[in-house]
Amino acid sequence: MKQWKGKKETVVKKGDKLELDKGTPTNYTIPSIAKVPGSIAGVHYPDSIMNIPADVPPATPVPPLPSAPPPPPTTAVSLNKVNDIALPSVDRSKKPSDTSVHDRYDTSVLRRVVVPVKVMTLFQAMAQTNTHKNIETCGVLTGKLEKNELIITHMIVPKQKGTSDSCMTSNEEEIFDYQDQHNLITIGWIHTHPTQTAFLSSVDLHTHCPYQLLMPEAIAIVCSPKYNETGFFILTPNYGLPFIANCRKSGFHPHPTEPPLFKVADHVRIENSAPLEVLDLRKA
Ligand SMILES: [Zn+2]
Ligand SMILES: [Zn+2]
Repeated sequence: MKQWKGKKETVVKKGDKLELDKGTPTNYTIPSIAKVPGSIAGVHYPDSIMNIPADVPPATPVPPLPSAPPPPPTTAVSLNKVNDIALPSVDRSKKPSDTSVHDRYDTSVLRRVVVPVKVMTLFQAMAQTNTHKNIETCGVLTGKLEKNELIITHMIVPKQKGTSDSCMTSNEEEIFDYQDQHNLITIGWIHTHPTQTAFLSSVDLHTHCPYQLLMPEAIAIVCSPKYNETGFFILTPNYGLPFIANCRKSGFHPHPTEPPLFKVADHVRIENSAPLEVLDLRKA
């Protein structure tokens, strides 16, 4: 999926000097929506549910927003749609009008996303060793649709390699396999900023884009232990989402700051007592 650069994340909104993409293909990928080619130790995995090519070269155009809304996320299988989004062969004539984008992504119609508070507390605890070493950690948030609410029930921390401003997942098949077995849909992702505030970097925006294209409610949670901040973000549905979907750049790169590309996700409800299963695949 989106490729990460080993560079400082740039806080666009603060008007800091932006670091331009040096254009080197990268060591970093993240999260998890990408499928890493190959299989694990002789085990054959069927086509993954989130099968974005991990090795799309930087020049590969990102196809525009698909014209049809994704099917209701009743099962994780709907994530197959990622293929349609990521493959360069998508028919660009299907670019939707502003109107259809607006209808589809009007934030007032987003279903509620229920986030157990344990998502943040357990994740930060699991990330602590990395955080102390100034290394990012990432995880995938999955769950179920119930009474028209998207409820995060399982947090999966995949095998990964992090740096101070990036996190590269591997063996994603393990994630998909687990989701398949437990009928879990993908509701978002979470990562730490060990030394920075909670915001979405340019790379984070690109990482998040396919999540939100597949499910308009998908959220990105950013935990900043140093500043004691947690951010719940989405791309602005009517502007940031189509903008990022059509941005061809990779690695850290500047984006215009106005209108805003992302915003706080106000369709989130934090539940203090909601249960959470955690799957840590890092040592498995
Ligand atoms: Zn980040
Ligand atoms: Zn971009």
